Amino acid sequence: MVFKKKQLAKILSGLERFKNPKVEFEQYITPGDVAAELLWNAFLNGDIAEKTVGDLGTGTGVLAIGASLLGAKTVYALDCDVDALKVAEYNAANLQVDNVVFVKGDVSFFGYKVDTVVMNPPFGCQNRYADRPFLEKACEKADVVYSIHLSRDDVKGFVRGFAEKLGFRVEVFETVPFEIPQQFHFHEKRLERVLVDLCRFEKKVF
Ligand code: SAH
Repeated sequence: MVFKKKQLAKILSGLERFKNPKVEFEQYITPGDVAAELLWNAFLNGDIAEKTVGDLGTGTGVLAIGASLLGAKTVYALDCDVDALKVAEYNAANLQVDNVVFVKGDVSFFGYKVDTVVMNPPFGCQNRYADRPFLEKACEKADVVYSIHLSRDDVKGFVRGFAEKLGFRVEVFETVPFEIPQQFHFHEKRLERVLVDLCRFEKKVF
């Protein structure tokens, strides 16, 4: 168990990264401090400890492993890319995290009902609408969802509208910088800095 946000950020920053990030899957690792910020808020809201958690598009496992370190009961972590999952499994084993179940598959096949979903889905920059099946699946499988989206008015409007249609209320609880290292040929800067919204979705009770 981890008891401090800073400690969590440090552990998550030290995880093994994508070996050959794949552009078509938008494989950007969530920086340790951003992952810790999201998870810590979820933890303080009572959405992690003793809960069953899902991580859609787990990549190298940052959010799944972080949730486990904050006391989640079981974490189901899915990704479509076997190379990413190998890194995620290595990261979990390295930290003696043994309650994360890694699943290979497309997000639409995620079959577990969970208390909370935490995810950093593709932003939909390479494939427009790539974030949609993630939002749909998260809202189908959990009543509470934490998700990371580009902080832009059009994205905000889209996410809010999409979630409302699925019966969820959306709150942007923080906007933070997110650093993307130069890893694809179209990246011109060594380090790209974007702003992202950390969002909490909650199912409306009628
Ligand atoms: N959640 C991780 C990785 C974010 S990158 C982190 O926070 O660091 C987005 C991840 O979604 C990648 O690992 C990519 O392989 C995965 N992904 C993209 N499209 C997918 C799909 N259709 N089904 C399942 N996983 C997908």
